[in-house]
Amino acid sequence: MSAPRVPPAAVARDRLRIAVQRSGRLAGSARALLAACGLVWREAEDQLFWPGREQPVDLLRVRDDDIPGLIAAGHCDLGIVGRNVLLERQGGAPRPPAVREWRALGFGRCRLAVAVPAAWTWRGPADLAGRRIATSYPGLLAAWLRAEKVPAEIVTLAGSVEIAPQLGQADAVCDLVSSGATLAAHGLVPVADLLASEAVLAGPRAPLAPAPARLAATLLRRVDGILRHRACRLVLLQVERERLAGLLDLLPDAEAPTVMQVDGADRLALQALCRGELTWQRREALERAGAHGLLVLPVEGVPA
Ligand code: ATP
Ligand code: ZN
Repeated sequence: MSAPRVPPAAVARDRLRIAVQRSGRLAGSARALLAACGLVWREAEDQLFWPGREQPVDLLRVRDDDIPGLIAAGHCDLGIVGRNVLLERQGGAPRPPAVREWRALGFGRCRLAVAVPAAWTWRGPADLAGRRIATSYPGLLAAWLRAEKVPAEIVTLAGSVEIAPQLGQADAVCDLVSSGATLAAHGLVPVADLLASEAVLAGPRAPLAPAPARLAATLLRRVDGILRHRACRLVLLQVERERLAGLLDLLPDAEAPTVMQVDGADRLALQALCRGELTWQRREALERAGAHGLLVLPVEGVPA
């Protein structure tokens, strides 16, 4: 298959172009979200541009760090990127940033935190005065140090920040944390949070051209539908007639449950769309309340 031609953004104004991470932590979920919106592409792992197959919405697959700049320069219209990357790229900008967060997407959650050697007794940010802090987020760290009025030296590294104290490159680090296991494996403990991050849909502050703007509005509507109904599940079960009321008490979030009679008069089949989480405990409670053959199914494309 020949490589698809990548039209310059300026002449592709009748299409919408979305940048996503090519590989890494956000790549799979970002594509899955867009696919759940109904988008399909002519996919080829080794190519960075995937033209839309049934709709004029194309994917640009790049490094996450490049996404804010690509949007700002108009090479793509929207992007899915960590809030941490978006804000770092805007750090210290003299003017209002050209790219802003359109939606928080609920995956890729992590926090940017300062971590210090476990042996330190941490009393507060002032303990960092005069210290060297290694980070890949110099903009966000500098802003935080300024706000805390702590004069510290920032050592900017592209990656593997957590090893810096052991190498003697720095005294502390400022890095992304999710479980904290990586920090702990390097004898570090998080002591202060700078930012709560997750993947976001980013777009320009200035309006898009009319055709991409219309496509972006449709995409936003679908993304919002998916975000609103992410926890939504279809619950199917059977229950004896006299236990139905008690069981419905456990499903206060069920919308217009459908109840049907099964064969004989005493057993009923119930079908309900539930908006809340069907947790382990809740499923147990349903079974104790008389649910037989409980099935909990994911739902796609629930109307808003
Ligand atoms: P690329 O090759 O695209 O530059 P990367 O190595 O910079 O990738 P990843 O490690 O794939 O980036 O992380 C992408 C994003 O995932 C981060 O910017 C952050 O928003 C999010 N993320 C969630 N949890 C973590 C974590 N524990 N560590 C690092 N990033 C995380
Ligand atoms: Zn990156």
